[in-house]
Amino acid sequence: MKTVIHWFRRDLRVTDNTSLNAAVAAGEAVVPVYILSDWKNGHPWTGSNRQHFLCESLASLDGNLRSVGGRLVVRCGEAVGELMRLAREAGAVEIHFNRDPDPFGRAVEERLDAACREAGIVAVAHKDVAIHERDEVLTGVGETFRVFTPYSKAWAKLPKPAVGGRVKALVVPEGISSLPLPDIGHWGLGPAAGGVIGGGEKAARARMASFLDGGIARYGDLRDVPSAPATSRLSQDLRYGLLSIRELHAACMKKAEMLDAGGRASAVKYVAELVWREFYMQILWNFPEVLEVEFNAKYRGMAWPGKPEAFERWKAGETGFPIVDAAMRELLETGFMHNRTRMITAMFLTKDLHLDWRLGESWFMRQLVDGEIASNNGGWQWSAGTGADAAPYFRIQNPWSQTKRYAADGVYIKKWIPELRDVDPAKFLEAPAPGMRLSPKYPAPMVDHASARDVTLDLFKAALGGGGK
Ligand SMILES: Cc1cc2nc3c(=O)[nH]c(=O)nc-3n(C[C@H](O)[C@H](O)[C@H](O)COP(=O)(O)OP(=O)(O)OC[C@H]3O[C@@H](n4cnc5c(N)ncnc54)[C@H](O)[C@@H]3O)c2cc1C
Repeated sequence: MKTVIHWFRRDLRVTDNTSLNAAVAAGEAVVPVYILSDWKNGHPWTGSNRQHFLCESLASLDGNLRSVGGRLVVRCGEAVGELMRLAREAGAVEIHFNRDPDPFGRAVEERLDAACREAGIVAVAHKDVAIHERDEVLTGVGETFRVFTPYSKAWAKLPKPAVGGRVKALVVPEGISSLPLPDIGHWGLGPAAGGVIGGGEKAARARMASFLDGGIARYGDLRDVPSAPATSRLSQDLRYGLLSIRELHAACMKKAEMLDAGGRASAVKYVAELVWREFYMQILWNFPEVLEVEFNAKYRGMAWPGKPEAFERWKAGETGFPIVDAAMRELLETGFMHNRTRMITAMFLTKDLHLDWRLGESWFMRQLVDGEIASNNGGWQWSAGTGADAAPYFRIQNPWSQTKRYAADGVYIKKWIPELRDVDPAKFLEAPAPGMRLSPKYPAPMVDHASARDVTLDLFKAALGGGGK
């Protein structure tokens, strides 16, 4: 009996999963395996919220595999060693997996490839995580795009891959041992925040259906309003591959055809956001150094002289800027933050508190359920003004005007900051007079935005060699 392995990574679904479908087509028996990492008690790039979501998603995946006659095999440790051991145990002749765009995942794939060649096993990598990955969308002279708009135009012109089906039946060989499905105790982590969104393919599919039924037609108008439940909330589902990006994209295009002109424009705007995800993936693929240094070489080594105490106040949502604090508390309480407020809080950390964007990047990765290394790095470098197609450094958002524009009714701020529930929302739109507070239990703004902005301009000018103060 020909036995093959499908290695689950960030593709925890049984519907339109390229590698899983290929493994089922290639083998009479398939070992579907997930390999748990073995770090303990804290990690700089993840935390309880995301690991909790992962556990729920693995449990759901096991259930889905059982419903077609299979089960999930769980192992733990260094991926290449575990896969080779499993291949020996099962007598597997092929190992299928979906490719990862990040440099850590790619390094594992290279090691796996070498180990398979030595053992006479075939390693088969598939494209799945993106509609167009790494080097498919190139400029006229074959170079990587560094700017989004021409990238997205070239992306749109390429033919799109077909959507595959759901696995119908699976035979897992007898006698293959598995660890129990994990809970977050596996990593020695504390409980996740109470408001973390539910994991698993079924929950993700319900979110997708509900967005396509309603939200997509209003997305263009409401996507920047943090209090409106107007965005798709599918980022964690794409992060863990609970949904296929091909299926989501095809469903959006089909829906767009059924909408009026306004609804269609809204759906097009939504698809553009999916393209941003792939833009940042190809940036990370082609410039993996962005995880260490500024994408824009002009700003490498620039000073970020902010104080550690300021970082603590930012993390806790105690800066005295209501829009910033509401967002930071939303993150702490749910592991999610709205895109508009991700930009506001990231700009505030870098341009008002003058703290290194890498600190914020790492804090977001530890808290966010959708924490995804390419989009997170892209978002942080965009906000800091150092990234690919980033906001120019001198375009610094004013948190008070951002509040006026996107959260003037106070609903979002009051939801996350109980101390401000009885305060007139008009007071959230500008800094209180010096020495005044919005409420006795809420701090005064920790910096003056205008002066902080001047310091930022000097820091960037100094980095550019223009000399600052
Ligand atoms: C500082 C900062 C950090 C970020 N970190 C992450 C992260 O770790 N993981 C993550 O998935 N997104 C990240 N984003 C992008 C964006 O904020 C989230 O994808 C979005 O808020 C998720 O909510 P949603 O699914 O309702 O989004 P929707 O508005 O419904 O968007 C649909 C999908 O498009 C993609 N998308 C939307 N905006 C972006 C964007 N700016 N860049 C890349 N992809 C995008 C996501 O996959 C998202 O699910 C970050 C943005 C910033 C400014």
